[in-house]
Amino acid sequence: MLNIKHLTQYNTRSGWNALLPPRVPCDQKPAKTRFASIVIGAGYTGLAAARRSAELEPAKEVLVLEASEIGEGPSGRNSGFVSVVPSKPMANAYGSAEDDALRKLRISLAGQEWLRSLIQEHNIDCDWDEESLRISAAATPKGAVDARNWLQSLRTWGFTCRVLSDEDRVAGLGTDYYTTAFDFRPRALVQPAALIRGLAASLPANVTLLERTLVTRVEGTGPFQVQSTKGTFTADRLFIANNAQARDLGMLPDRTVTILTYAALTPPLDGRELAKLGAAPIWGMTPIDSMGMTMRKLKDRFLVRSMSSYGRETDPKTVRNELTRLYRNRYPRMNSHAFEYVWGGSMAFTGNGGFFFGEARPNVFGAVGCNATGVVRGTINGKLLAELACRSQSQLLTDRLRQVGPNWLPPEPFRGIGAMSRMAWLRHKAGREY
Ligand SMILES: Cc1cc2nc3c(=O)[nH]c(=O)nc-3n(C[C@H](O)[C@H](O)[C@H](O)COP(=O)(O)OP(=O)(O)OC[C@H]3O[C@@H](n4cnc5c(N)ncnc54)[C@H](O)[C@@H]3O)c2cc1C
Repeated sequence: MLNIKHLTQYNTRSGWNALLPPRVPCDQKPAKTRFASIVIGAGYTGLAAARRSAELEPAKEVLVLEASEIGEGPSGRNSGFVSVVPSKPMANAYGSAEDDALRKLRISLAGQEWLRSLIQEHNIDCDWDEESLRISAAATPKGAVDARNWLQSLRTWGFTCRVLSDEDRVAGLGTDYYTTAFDFRPRALVQPAALIRGLAASLPANVTLLERTLVTRVEGTGPFQVQSTKGTFTADRLFIANNAQARDLGMLPDRTVTILTYAALTPPLDGRELAKLGAAPIWGMTPIDSMGMTMRKLKDRFLVRSMSSYGRETDPKTVRNELTRLYRNRYPRMNSHAFEYVWGGSMAFTGNGGFFFGEARPNVFGAVGCNATGVVRGTINGKLLAELACRSQSQLLTDRLRQVGPNWLPPEPFRGIGAMSRMAWLRHKAGREY
């Protein structure tokens, strides 16, 4: 039996999900137990794989098993930045690092386009926003150098970038904490729990979603017996889409680490308090430094995201205290730095920034390790994974198969010691960016 309860059930609810009306989870065991495909995990990756395979094979039934509830997994816990920026470009047998970056960009843009079209087609009410200010910022001289390099890469890849003047930066963000900031596009903002709920609610009719169902074991070589807390289900094909927990099912046991990060939402703020958070009514900011703080000014609240931990969740009181301190440092003039919701979520990270994508063994398909940008990457990886499984060919799929995968990581305790030492070093190096 696997000990994965602590990673699919969190200490606290997702603040995004708590803001939405109550939802009744689909947790009634279906009458049938035999399916053409089973998808493990109902995040962006799993739902995209389920949707696309159901579209390509309309006569076949797909079952999606989700340990938690839609909106309570990491897909409903993130900061809601819909980013298409290429992940770390890597040269390989198919071309230079620059070729790799452009291939990754095309794939992510296709993912964003698909998400946009699904939102329109199914009227998903998720505050999808491609207009508001979406900036990257740095607070130190080293951060300013990194920002300049980053800006140059973004421009090379065709992003539209605008560096904010000192005046615009301070007025826009409502703080002089940062010394460099630029807006770049395309990049969207979204209410992530509303998005994942909408994606789940609009799955094709030949997809069955079963929530509150933890997969504990997979047996067989096809058909596969998938043991879960709601009994055993059988399928000819499997999609492993449970990201940070894929390792627990034997997928890439030596390629990923589980890192958690944390977010918090204030209570509703009045007009005077909102004005202290910058002139723009809505904005989003991601840090140049990987250990920095993400922030979003929403219509009536403020969101922060920062901190990381290895493998297990930090207790909510410690998280609340630390996020409050970081918020206060940036906005000392707020009347209150209280949060209404504080939560954490897990992600699968790899050593070299490469994601696993493909057929791990016959009829077992996986897309794992989106690092911290799974809204678009999970979506497009899930879609392309279904196309790979259904033997549908495209240039995007060929390009996706040409990316470098994750490298080997040493076993525990060395893996954990290495990951924690690296995080401590990055945190120290970040200084005021943290
Ligand atoms: C606080 C925070 C902020 C973030 N901000 C951003 C952001 O702004 N933009 C962005 O792109 N990304 C962001 N991310 C990362 C993003 O959330 C992930 O990359 C994304 O959720 C990955 O999608 P996925 O479908 O691959 O995996 P997940 O969303 O992790 O989905 C996997 C699902 O599998 C389920 N599961 C696990 N084990 C089992 C099992 N044994 N049986 C059944 N089900 C199982 C889990 O409950 C989970 O719902 C953030 C993450 C966090 C935590």
